[in-house]
Amino acid sequence: MLENIRIVLVNTSHTGNIGSTARAMKTMGLSNLYLVDPVTPPDGKSSALAAGAGDVLANAKIVSTLAEAVASCSLVVGTSARSRTLPWPMLEPRECGIKMVEEGQKEQVALVFGRENNGLSNEELQLCHFHVCIPANPEYSSLNLAAAVQTLCYEIRMGFLQQDAYPVVEQEYPLSADLERFYSHLEQTLTETGFIVQNHPGVVMTKLRRLVNRARPESQELNILRGILSAMDKKNNA
Ligand code: SAH
Repeated sequence: MLENIRIVLVNTSHTGNIGSTARAMKTMGLSNLYLVDPVTPPDGKSSALAAGAGDVLANAKIVSTLAEAVASCSLVVGTSARSRTLPWPMLEPRECGIKMVEEGQKEQVALVFGRENNGLSNEELQLCHFHVCIPANPEYSSLNLAAAVQTLCYEIRMGFLQQDAYPVVEQEYPLSADLERFYSHLEQTLTETGFIVQNHPGVVMTKLRRLVNRARPESQELNILRGILSAMDKKNNA
């Protein structure tokens, strides 16, 4: 079950942090590591800090975008040390651990970590269903990347140790790639109808993403929405 949970590091600068992440993961029973466009690929420093978790490091998958890393996931949770301008559904670390384990019973799920210097971009944060923030010292709340991975993987471990207490998830949620296809389709149709003005796209799509994300449509519901867009396209192009 923990095999369905992937840890994603975005654009990491320090190779040591990649090794420490592998170690943090293995101690909590996780093994599925994705590296999005690392500044430097894993090196000797990574191996030294991975210690006994060299296997996790060796099996890490390197991809070029976050969308690619989470395409096959039906739940994506992004981490952030501070609240952003656009409020997004939040999870407490404990809830996050439980949710990853619950939904990881059925589908692939991802927990995403940002750059050491400036975290995740707004665009990357919008690829996530939820955000999670470790409620650290408000005067100094930014943990070292691998320390944040350790803290949240510990919560996943706690969720895993209590897994018998949870019901099996019945809903079927769309994969990230399907959701992204829907958002592209929505934007295209709204542009064709003139609702979105190409020169002033503004924040409409961000707000719509937030709305749809809040509703967390199931696969069938997303298919209905796609069907509505296709019917509109047909009329527009008739
Ligand atoms: N200056 C950056 C901090 C980056 S810390 C910023 O303001 O976003 C590097 C990464 O560690 C973050 O992107 C996040 O993934 C994780 N992290 C650090 N502190 C965290 C916290 N308090 N809660 C959740 N994640 C945290």
